Amino acid sequence: MKFEIESLPYAYNALEPYIDAKTVEIHHDKHHATYVAKLNAAIESEQGFAFEGTLDELLGDLQQVPEKIRTAVKNNGGGVWNHNFYWKSLSPEATKPSQALEECISKSFGDMESLKKKLVDSALAVFGSGWAWLCADSDGKLKIVPSSNQDSPAMNIDAFKGLTPILTVDVWEHAYYLKYQNRRQEHVEAILNLLDWKCASERFEKRS
Ligand code: MN
Repeated sequence: MKFEIESLPYAYNALEPYIDAKTVEIHHDKHHATYVAKLNAAIESEQGFAFEGTLDELLGDLQQVPEKIRTAVKNNGGGVWNHNFYWKSLSPEATKPSQALEECISKSFGDMESLKKKLVDSALAVFGSGWAWLCADSDGKLKIVPSSNQDSPAMNIDAFKGLTPILTVDVWEHAYYLKYQNRRQEHVEAILNLLDWKCASERFEKRS
């Protein structure tokens, strides 16, 4: 089975002025696509490993993956999953959280502005490459979880135990370097204008 890249849910220039078209194009068509290609190449290199499941099933149990390709599957498979999740976390349209999510934002952070400030702080605190995830537990309590490299909520790792991710910010330099160079804070503050609260609300409703 070959994994395929999910197409972008909007045009390259749809996220301007916050993220420029060239950055979106390279990020999706080169970086994201390369994770897909390298994931497939790793699986194909191990002919005895005839995996037929979904990406979630693959990442949810990395112990089933032969040791020789496990790191490649983890890094590239995580890269694929995280980017699929990331593109859907952004919207060119202005969106609002559902009433249920809004109530949980108030309970967990005080208000939306405090949540956004925490998200920026968490994104800035990631050393090197990684992600900042807004997650919900089964009671609806919200929490921001940073991750390194391509570690992913789809993996069975302690940081995400009992949590459902509802939004994410990519803080790899490739997500912002062309427009913002080393100015990660400026980029993350710009991204706040694009977060898809409608999608976040749907993910929140479906949390386990
Ligand atoms: Mn990325």
